[in-house]
Amino acid sequence: MKYQSAITHLECTLTGEHFDASHPHRTNPANGKPLFARYDLEKAKATLTKDSLADRPTNMWRYREVMPVIDDANIITLGEGGTPLIKADRLAQATGMESVFIKDEGVNPTGSFKARGLGAAVSKAKELGQMRLTMPSAGNAAGAMSAYAAVGGMEAHVFMPKDAPIANKVECEAYGAKLTLVDGFITDAGQMSQRAAEELGLFDVSTLREPYRAEGKKTMGYEIVEQLGFEVPDVIVYPTGGGTGIVGIWKALDEIEQLGWIGSERPRMVCVQAEGCAPLVAAYDKGEEFAEPFPDPRTLAAGMRVPAAIGDFLVIRAVRESRGTAVTVSDEEMVDGMVEMARTEGVFAAPEGGATLAAMRKLIVEGSISKDERVVLLVTGNAHKYLDMLPSGMF
Ligand SMILES: *Cc1c(COP(=O)(O)O)cnc(C)c1O
Repeated sequence: MKYQSAITHLECTLTGEHFDASHPHRTNPANGKPLFARYDLEKAKATLTKDSLADRPTNMWRYREVMPVIDDANIITLGEGGTPLIKADRLAQATGMESVFIKDEGVNPTGSFKARGLGAAVSKAKELGQMRLTMPSAGNAAGAMSAYAAVGGMEAHVFMPKDAPIANKVECEAYGAKLTLVDGFITDAGQMSQRAAEELGLFDVSTLREPYRAEGKKTMGYEIVEQLGFEVPDVIVYPTGGGTGIVGIWKALDEIEQLGWIGSERPRMVCVQAEGCAPLVAAYDKGEEFAEPFPDPRTLAAGMRVPAAIGDFLVIRAVRESRGTAVTVSDEEMVDGMVEMARTEGVFAAPEGGATLAAMRKLIVEGSISKDERVVLLVTGNAHKYLDMLPSGMF
């Protein structure tokens, strides 16, 4: 063990109350709010230096000190992370911008950035002796959990709405998970997963209902800063469902400042949601701290079809503190974004990725992104898993 985790404790994101990180906590039992892993960053800083990065692995575990797993033997990795930050010059030209980047998370194991979150969460669950996992998922999270559980020799239970993309169902079964198709929404699947957790003694790794998926996803923030030569971009455009990624990146930036790699400068965080499922945008627009559940959620982008997010206040906080914004795009605009990204940059983005381009275009027209700003579009997954969902005639 050349480098060691500097994890110290878990902290309630609402009250700041501390919890012991050596126990399998999920949320704060008193208020049901998410817990964040905290680290001794002074200690981490001694070894996690810019210079030391040169000879570290090119996956997300390169930021070893700020990852939650203590014993290296518990790390289950498929090489997640280390994804390219593509300088999208043709796309920049087409949108009248000087500098646009695509962070292409579609090249991750299992085809989406869910590999980061579940790579971290499944590894930590193993370390905490939780060998039987469950989650509700409408898509990519389930595949990622199932793959990491397979490698870890663990049991995976998945509760999935039956209208989920075919690829997501098939991959879970291929990885050996126990798949239950649910006639209902993701919220119904969530209730079934919770019941199964209680009845069968399974550990529920739903997003932000355990502390470590955010730790995996935060590594996108570390990578973006590192790939920009230890600078932050002006804007990060993020397709938001449960919000783990946007919240994780925002957390990472604070850690990175404390590590001394950047100062107090921050990108503006843009939360993009689908018109047919936009609880966080609605709450942001109304100036509220928490979001109301979004009735009858509908969108092609399964990863953004999350009508109620437990980390709602954390997403809204990140957007406000960063002086960013929250916008919706239609499914049609997402698909146009996918096609344009494919044709200009050769990136076959999931609809969620297409949504970031549609959002950037809107914000340019509105005047809230200017031509000379550096924008990072988070392409969270690959379109290959959505082929059966795409509208016919989109090309
Ligand atoms: C899960 C998912 C999202 C939403 O991610 P959060 O971090 O939970 O908001 C976006 N895009 C894709 C492709 C996803 O699978």
